[in-house]
Amino acid sequence: MHNLKTQCLRLLCLLTLLSATHGLLAQTSEVDQLVGALLGETPLVSDLQELCDEIGGRPTGSAANLKSVDWALEKFQQAGVNVRKEAFTLPRFWLERSSETEITGDVAFTPRVVAMTFSAATPETGLTAPLLDGGKGTEADFSRLGDAANGAFILIETEELLDIDGLFAEYAAAVGTEAHAFAAGVAGVVYMSSRPKGLLYRHNASRGFDNTHPMLVMEREHAKRAFRLLRRGKSLNLTARIDVDSRGEYESYNIIGEIPGTEKPGEIIIIGAHLDSWGLGTGANDNGCNVVMMIDIARQMKRLGIQSKRTIRFALWNGEEHGMIGSWRYTHAHADELDNHVMALSVDIGSGRILGFFTSGRGELLEPVMRALQPVQGLGPFQQINQPIVGTDNYDFMMQGIANLVANHDPFNYGPNYHAESDTYDKVDMRQLRLNAAIVAALTYGFANMEVTWQRQTPINVQDLIDSTPLRTQMDMFNLYPGWEDGSRGYVLKTTAK
Ligand SMILES: [Zn+2]
Repeated sequence: MHNLKTQCLRLLCLLTLLSATHGLLAQTSEVDQLVGALLGETPLVSDLQELCDEIGGRPTGSAANLKSVDWALEKFQQAGVNVRKEAFTLPRFWLERSSETEITGDVAFTPRVVAMTFSAATPETGLTAPLLDGGKGTEADFSRLGDAANGAFILIETEELLDIDGLFAEYAAAVGTEAHAFAAGVAGVVYMSSRPKGLLYRHNASRGFDNTHPMLVMEREHAKRAFRLLRRGKSLNLTARIDVDSRGEYESYNIIGEIPGTEKPGEIIIIGAHLDSWGLGTGANDNGCNVVMMIDIARQMKRLGIQSKRTIRFALWNGEEHGMIGSWRYTHAHADELDNHVMALSVDIGSGRILGFFTSGRGELLEPVMRALQPVQGLGPFQQINQPIVGTDNYDFMMQGIANLVANHDPFNYGPNYHAESDTYDKVDMRQLRLNAAIVAALTYGFANMEVTWQRQTPINVQDLIDSTPLRTQMDMFNLYPGWEDGSRGYVLKTTAK
């Protein structure tokens, strides 16, 4: 904390110097104040402890999630921010109650497992089937297995997950593996945990809500043991008992806080982080740390009486882990306002240093981002990546043609703890989180005040983006292309005639 103060003072000196030498506008002093406040002793730390340690993991639909909604509402209210909860419907309720397995046959042991998202339940007495070596789950692996795969549990080998690239590789591989497995008529798919030392995590099934198979992640060391045994010709069976609470539609809530603009209140800058998490850990780096960041930015703006020209909305999304459902439903509920959304920012990659922003194939955003970051350039350097990125709540804004940014962080410890039992408060770099809050605040303030050259794109522009960048591949990874193609999750037009 002491070091942070020193750094904060240095930054303020730097800012003063910058203002003096560049003769920046009066607005600069507001952003300096905001940055300075966020680097000081704010309730950021205790907020994160409340959210992660006291409320805990908060899958959408869970009691903890509902508690976190009330908690977040109260935090914004206490800060004096206009806030509301906006209900939306999720298509399917799913929470794991318990999962266990038993390996029998030539050798018997009981590996720990966790159900993958939207896994089917098994009968209460369990489902027993042969456990087969599915290798890496490639087409060649399934041809080698042939008819034997039919009705069997297939064990899939994974690389150890070290970073974000590994995470995307894991998502990408699952699409093919699961397509081959379901075509072969498997009883279920069992992934070797990509994290060592018995660590379990909630791996997303490629089909999301449409998954109808028992799907598990097995602790890495015991999965390796099973592979060694199978490769020595031993015969193994797996009994899986998966108990899930799976039902139909239900309601969840986004939290939308707002500081109205002074000159262009109808124009909106929306910045957000998702409130929900999977329940194995306590959703600290994914994404409690950035939830408390949003609250703190709003709080400090109110405390300092800062109002920008445009309206700033602070969104805490729900249903993100279920397929970015909350932000998707927001774009429908606010269809009439979408033309006026000037920029949408998502912060969702933990608490490593913000290295820059993904500008989602919108070259016209590159210069404005650098301009907005000028007051905090001492916290850089910042480098933008002008590529679309799928996997968090910028997605539906991107598909609606709205200029969107995603903070790109140093992966730090994000990958190894992603969706895992170990994503807890102690993994958050609090010092860096404060610095990130300053960066995000400066960016937001900049966009909320600057003149802009861009507007909402057309559906044709969005299709061009899909066709000319790796966006299509990423959409496939999350099973999102069919919705775009058939219009069920497509471009929303303004409703006319009111
Ligand atoms: Zn996340």
